[in-house]
Amino acid sequence: MLTALVNQKIFTTIHFTREDLKRVRSDGMQFQCPYCSSGLILRIGNRNVPHFAHVSHAGCIVEKENESPKHLLSKQLLYDRLNSLYKNVKLEHYLKEIKQIADIYVKTDDREIAIEIQCSTIPIPEMEERTHGYHRNGITPFWILTQSLKRKELLKLSTFQQAFIRYSPDLHYFLLHFLPEISSFHLYTHLYPVSNSRFLTEAPVTIPVDQITLPFTIPNASLQHPNPFSAWNHYRMKWIYNKLNYNKTGRDAFLREVYGEGDTFLYLPLYIGLPVIPHGMMIKNHEVEWQYYIWKDSLKKCGAFTVESVYHGLNKRLIEGHIELRGLPLIKIEEGLRNVVRGYLSLLEGLKVIERTDDQHFQQTNTWSCPNHFSAFEKHRHDFFPKWKHILKKV
Ligand SMILES: [Zn+2]
Repeated sequence: MLTALVNQKIFTTIHFTREDLKRVRSDGMQFQCPYCSSGLILRIGNRNVPHFAHVSHAGCIVEKENESPKHLLSKQLLYDRLNSLYKNVKLEHYLKEIKQIADIYVKTDDREIAIEIQCSTIPIPEMEERTHGYHRNGITPFWILTQSLKRKELLKLSTFQQAFIRYSPDLHYFLLHFLPEISSFHLYTHLYPVSNSRFLTEAPVTIPVDQITLPFTIPNASLQHPNPFSAWNHYRMKWIYNKLNYNKTGRDAFLREVYGEGDTFLYLPLYIGLPVIPHGMMIKNHEVEWQYYIWKDSLKKCGAFTVESVYHGLNKRLIEGHIELRGLPLIKIEEGLRNVVRGYLSLLEGLKVIERTDDQHFQQTNTWSCPNHFSAFEKHRHDFFPKWKHILKKV
């Protein structure tokens, strides 16, 4: 922690140089924990940000906080920046009503904001609970992820890191990542999953900490949109082969259903497993899975169907546990799953797999048949791609 009590007054290491702090320490100044009143020691190393630590850790609320060097440095950098912008900025601010310590608390003319810097992985329900706690008290939480991320051609995110994904109509699904070691944020925009944990995105935009404001605004809109449509089939096939490889035991429920229907998994039509931009993100399962369910539950029956009936079919799959939503606690999108269904049906309509019969109703243009051998699949490919290219032009 960066704050302590000295004679019942808040003392913050940030306001002093290392030399000042060393002098204060050798003068024998006594530091107390603001939360549990027990004694604190002042640590002034060469690498780490000077900070306080408990002499003994018996049952203090701060114990739960991760106080890695990265966390301390993040707190210091963000505090310095926000303190230069706003009058009322507090470090390690305890909120009695919800028994939580906000890393940084900012009160502007019209808002209260709690900055939560997260270096360690915590359970997502805990993150949700803390978020609700803030909201109940009229405070907007701002979660900041500082864990290292892995990125090659794709950005790899753990379930916990995915929980920091947010949404805006301009940036689509985006992730703001803080790198205290370079005093900057990296902003990854237009994220789109190609598997459970891998995402397409362009190289991140770097935003120096001394340019950030609250609410967060993106300094220049020179953002590149990745084009998931062009790469989708490569990743779709990769996913299919992986699934086949890992299912040597034959226990995969999805594959059992496909085989039970007499369909060939390797030759599923190409319109099963399409990227539905942007809200396809919401479903954790691969598109092949949930789109196959839609086809089986709604389209195959040859009768007319509506967005509503397809949505209800998909929702039933959700309730039965065949599909799962991605854990995105910072995103509240009304009608999320309905939007996914709408997006998918409009792709199918563009590909002339389905057609409108009136305002509300659709039907399949041809009776379904899954290619059952390679040459039939090749013919399907040959028919599919010109139509797909036509759709690409419109995107
Ligand atoms: Zn304490």
